[in-house]
Amino acid sequence: MKITSVECYLGTYALGGFVTVKVNTDEGVYGWGEAGLSYGKSSMAAFGQCQDFAKLVIGMDPFNTEEIWEHLHRHTFWGMGGGVVITSAMAAIDIACWDIKGKVLNMPVYKLIGGKTNKKLRAYASQLQFGWKEVIEKKDALDLLYDPKDYYRVTKDAMADGYDAIKVDPVFAPLENIGLKPFETQGNQVRGCYREHDLARSVERIAACREAGGPDLDIIVEIHSLLDANTAAILGKELEKYRIMYYEEPTMPCNPSVFKHIKERCTLPLATGERSYTRWGFRQFFEDRTLDVIQPDLCNTGGITETKKICDMAQVYDVGVQIHVCGGPIATAAALQVEAAIPNFVIHEEHNANLLKVFKSSGKYHHHPVGGAYDIPELPGIGQEMSEDYCKTALKAVIE
Ligand code: MG
Repeated sequence: MKITSVECYLGTYALGGFVTVKVNTDEGVYGWGEAGLSYGKSSMAAFGQCQDFAKLVIGMDPFNTEEIWEHLHRHTFWGMGGGVVITSAMAAIDIACWDIKGKVLNMPVYKLIGGKTNKKLRAYASQLQFGWKEVIEKKDALDLLYDPKDYYRVTKDAMADGYDAIKVDPVFAPLENIGLKPFETQGNQVRGCYREHDLARSVERIAACREAGGPDLDIIVEIHSLLDANTAAILGKELEKYRIMYYEEPTMPCNPSVFKHIKERCTLPLATGERSYTRWGFRQFFEDRTLDVIQPDLCNTGGITETKKICDMAQVYDVGVQIHVCGGPIATAAALQVEAAIPNFVIHEEHNANLLKVFKSSGKYHHHPVGGAYDIPELPGIGQEMSEDYCKTALKAVIE
């Protein structure tokens, strides 16, 4: 079997600019993959990188995922050294090849990487500082919450939807609503060293979630790398009494040894991974044993091939896995396949952007949690394709 062409797509919506590839073969079977850069400011670069790498896999056998990965890693000059644009394009092609393998063999991908170790996948409602159904489905937009009373209400909203675990960033919104839209706050939000009133307000927001959820709700606290390590340790100490499931990206993860500072000063389990790429990007965290949960994004850390290896490395250090999922329908579908197979799976991230119309209309199927958990899709391959609607409106480039 040979790869004959690769169609590269870039979605045109602000919050649905999904970067995807459709890999076609000489036997008429095709596979879909996604580069995990639909948010932030690198989607055009990822769209271009997918085209650059697509040229190198024409004529290769999509079953040889290790060979393709090594080819893109070692024979592209910049593959070794990487960076997120590189590893996202590698991921897109890798996921598409696994999708092809599954379709040819008429099996879901999880069966090809070890079979099921989890019958159902527990999920959490993610990024509640931007609302849940009550807010998002009414406006078809994310909306930043400020008042602790809104954090109480949004927690109840997610629980009414069947979730017994949530994630919330108590830092992202400044002290008060100054009329900014969620992503316009990036330049104004609290960061680095915290003022006393910001610390108090962040603690109040988490206290409101705990009060709404009662003792059994699992709460993941997200910081989006906004705080310096010392402030993250101070806030972590303050949050110990609220039984936090884990503390995500408490500070910037680019120098892993900085996490030791936080680990030594508060008892919260630590997590990071969406900004760490390939096995080499996670190594130091494992050796330092600073993390309790890793969050590799398989659409930006190198695909299914690489993520499975990272997850297996994590198990050696007794570290659990929550795959970072913040992208299009392909990202969700591919994550479910890997999560079904790995024994150190902790929980699935269900992002609230998945409630937007653009997400629901971009995939052929609408996989979503019921009662706070996913059934594992049994369709061949990764079990998802991009919709005709998406393909019609997206920018497209074909490499043959
Ligand atoms: Mg995060």
